[in-house]
Amino acid sequence: MNAEKYKQVLQEIKPFHAQLIAVSKTKPVEDILEVYQAGQRLFGENKVQEMILKHEALPKDIQWHLIGHLQTNKVKIIAPFVSMIHSVDSFKLLQEINKQAEKNNRIIDCLLQIFVADEETKFGLSEEELFALLSSAEFSKLKNIRICGLMGMATNTDDENKIANEFSHLKKIFEEVKQKYFNNESSFKELSMGMSSDYKIALQHGATFIRVGSIIFGER
Ligand SMILES: *Cc1c(COP(=O)(O)O)cnc(C)c1O
Repeated sequence: MNAEKYKQVLQEIKPFHAQLIAVSKTKPVEDILEVYQAGQRLFGENKVQEMILKHEALPKDIQWHLIGHLQTNKVKIIAPFVSMIHSVDSFKLLQEINKQAEKNNRIIDCLLQIFVADEETKFGLSEEELFALLSSAEFSKLKNIRICGLMGMATNTDDENKIANEFSHLKKIFEEVKQKYFNNESSFKELSMGMSSDYKIALQHGATFIRVGSIIFGER
């Protein structure tokens, strides 16, 4: 049962004061409604089209978090309603989010995705790219985006030490960025890390958002 697993996860994260994003990608609206009725309001999707359809079909007080790679040409279709974009991995994308947010007369909350894992296939900024982006004059001109923190994924491995090292590395980058660029901005406070296989490790290393799918909704 979806709702029971959901409540279990909520109990586990309670001591950590983190927020749960229920990752509902590939799952039907009935499954989402079950978890919604148990109280969940934050849902994560990795595909724009799917998020649009679910946004249309489901209650409007759901906060939709985009967690997957986003192409610039698709920003405009989610800009009117998306709650947060976790997967910002280039300045070009950030510029487009800013432009579409402006058109919709809103500010869109974003996280910068940082690459901390081993796999070459994963998206995200390197530390060097991150600091270059935040230091650039063009960045400071963007008024319709709000950088709320960082997001990252650990290497897909059974080696818990390795995962812990990657999360603690990301936490360290977060603290550095906070101090250097967002010291007076209380909205820079989120660290989105941890999925079904590694959220317990992520919580121990300072995650404020965990993105959990298969434990709640079952295998995809
Ligand atoms: C699918 C996905 C998750 C959730 O994965 P589970 O293993 O099902 O918990 C988390 N983050 C991202 C970026 C994802 O694409």
